[in-house]
Amino acid sequence: MSEPRRLLSRLRSLRADGSAPLSALVRLVASELVSEVCSVYVQRPGDILELAATEGLKADAIGHTRLRVGEGIVGLCAAKGSVMNLPDAQNHPAFAYRPETGEEPFASMLAIPVRRSGRTLGVLAVQNRTPRNFTDAEVDDLETVAMLVAEVLSGSGATDGSPDGLGATVPRVFSGTSLMGGIAAGPVVLLRTGRPAIRLLADDPKAEQIRLDQAVDRMQRGLDDLFAGVPSNGGLADVTASRDVLEAYRLVASDAGWLRRAGDVIRGGTTAEAAVQRVASELHDRMRRIGDPYLRERLADVEDLANRLLTALTGDAAPVPVPAGAILLARRLGPAELLDWHARGIGGVAIEEASPSGHAAILARALGIPAIGGLRGMLDSAEQGDDAVIDADDGQFILRPETEVVHAYIRAREARSAKYADLAVWRDRPAASADGVPLKLMLNIGLGLELPQLARTGADGIGLFRTEIAMLARGSVADVAEQAAIYARVLDEAGDKPVLFRTLDLGADKLLPGMVSAEENPAMGWRSLRVGLDRPALLRRQLRALLLAAGGRALSVMFPMVATVAEFRAARSLLLAEAKRVRPAPATLRIGTMLEVPALMWQLPELLKVADFISVGSNDLLQFLFAADRGTPSLYDRYDFLSQPVLDLIEQLVGSAHITGVSVSVCGEAASRPLDALVLVALGVTTLSMPAAGILPIKAMFARVDLRSFRPVLAAIRRGGGFGLREPVAVWAREQGILV
Ligand code: PEP
Ligand code: MG
Repeated sequence: MSEPRRLLSRLRSLRADGSAPLSALVRLVASELVSEVCSVYVQRPGDILELAATEGLKADAIGHTRLRVGEGIVGLCAAKGSVMNLPDAQNHPAFAYRPETGEEPFASMLAIPVRRSGRTLGVLAVQNRTPRNFTDAEVDDLETVAMLVAEVLSGSGATDGSPDGLGATVPRVFSGTSLMGGIAAGPVVLLRTGRPAIRLLADDPKAEQIRLDQAVDRMQRGLDDLFAGVPSNGGLADVTASRDVLEAYRLVASDAGWLRRAGDVIRGGTTAEAAVQRVASELHDRMRRIGDPYLRERLADVEDLANRLLTALTGDAAPVPVPAGAILLARRLGPAELLDWHARGIGGVAIEEASPSGHAAILARALGIPAIGGLRGMLDSAEQGDDAVIDADDGQFILRPETEVVHAYIRAREARSAKYADLAVWRDRPAASADGVPLKLMLNIGLGLELPQLARTGADGIGLFRTEIAMLARGSVADVAEQAAIYARVLDEAGDKPVLFRTLDLGADKLLPGMVSAEENPAMGWRSLRVGLDRPALLRRQLRALLLAAGGRALSVMFPMVATVAEFRAARSLLLAEAKRVRPAPATLRIGTMLEVPALMWQLPELLKVADFISVGSNDLLQFLFAADRGTPSLYDRYDFLSQPVLDLIEQLVGSAHITGVSVSVCGEAASRPLDALVLVALGVTTLSMPAAGILPIKAMFARVDLRSFRPVLAAIRRGGGFGLREPVAVWAREQGILV
């Protein structure tokens, strides 16, 4: 292949013409790269790749040859977002033959995804007759070309919609996690994170430092104004939590550490803008390596702040007005950004990377905006102005729905607002089934700022306090006094309600800075209690802090990732030994284990003699039971909690525990899913611990459930055999009208 520089400058001048037709572009690339074929496939709405220009394939195929994302080599390249370098493309299992293109003579193919601001815009492909592997240098060259093609495509509006409207009518449904329940319907507004190019180098570091200081000042004042507008009352708004979020954000905004680092970079000869971008991306990389979902949420804060600071430095055009009730689509979203968009009148938010414990989620709840997170690939499929529906109650995001579907959702929204006004009344009612079986619905939390959820939901206690989350948030394990203060605040806030503290569950994806895992399978590696037992001083410190925090009150402690009774005994002995030293002794000391490792099921008789309670961590239990990584989205639908093996396991556990008087609860995500919760309670697990958003809907649902009539139905479903049981359970639930 020829030198890329000449190609790049020719491409740039082509683009400078203003209209840069794709046909001219592929002709240029084919001739400069000496390849027989160069084609550009443009991604249309509906995840369709359309041959938009070619040099070397039949011209008639342009506008006619279409592949779905994932179909053929080109589709696979777009789906995976990675380069396909194939000496013999036609014998690749994914090859999709399109006779109209006349591509039979071409053996080798190099396909490069065309991406911009994290979005796939299309695929650039070159083909040669000779079967050969394209060299690394050639791949590099073509990747550079693909970046320029992306600029041309986005500048020409080639990907803004299909001229014949084909893709624009194809609906897509994405499943995610509800961050704040509700229904929203409206046109889509895309929040793009890409920024225009900025000046990089400066000769006067002092002047740049002054510009940075002034910009920080302007940004802080802007934040003060923005935060002043946060509502301080109303409905389900969680005022205290949102205050905490904004305070945390403000602390990051004024953090001397990252501003000092930006100063250092400026002294190295860059502009203030370049320094901000550099520091933000360093922070970003560091936080990304810590796989913990809570900390990943902080990434959004950092991006939000960096964007704000850049805007304060460069000035920004006045915000474009958005249609009232529009749905904001973002890859990540910081709390201040959400406030901005709320002020501009959006009606719902869909975020690709967000979890219910994140700042954006907490604020969405405070502002009452329907929100949904964890929607992989959504941004790549959406176009500005597409219609969409958010069904955050069901975790569904529907892009380009049929008109009838939109109308159905608007009707559902009206019915829902009447119904949800009623949900708050459940807060102060005891949880029980319609036939009088009492239930305990508890909270899963890990941070002080989540404590107000206890009062807001009327939960019966905290069934899982993930102690490692606060340590991950501060970047290290706190000393005894600091840990004791954190735990004491939890107990103070809980008052008479029980709290189950889980000891540090570090390792796997929850790594503190400096804790590098070199293991091939960290989820099954040196993590959690295994670390605690090998580093007893660390575990002892935490146990002492918990005992000190209790200060004579009742204390319940459980250990995570217990695989053998010997491990549990060892951990329990450490706690009992520590308990002898700390005064005042806790009023009661209950010591339990999580059931996350299936092997414990074959040690139940011995375990039940020493454990006071067992809490089933369904998230990890399922991943180990089915050997399916819990973090791999493509495996989510493959195995189900509502399946014969899991129900047999739960039934056996409940039966054995009942005989010995050991209490059993479930604290994994399954506990907050209505059908899973229904089956668990029917099997005798009457204590469920879940994220805050689940408490009221689950409580309201059980008030309509007659367990006496469900139990024989469940028994019959299980006798019916088969692996998955979800569908027949759902049919019964729908018939009974028990789902909120
Ligand atoms: C679980 O594994 O189900 C659990 C509750 O623990 P975590 O999600 O924190 O691993
Ligand atoms: Mg777990």
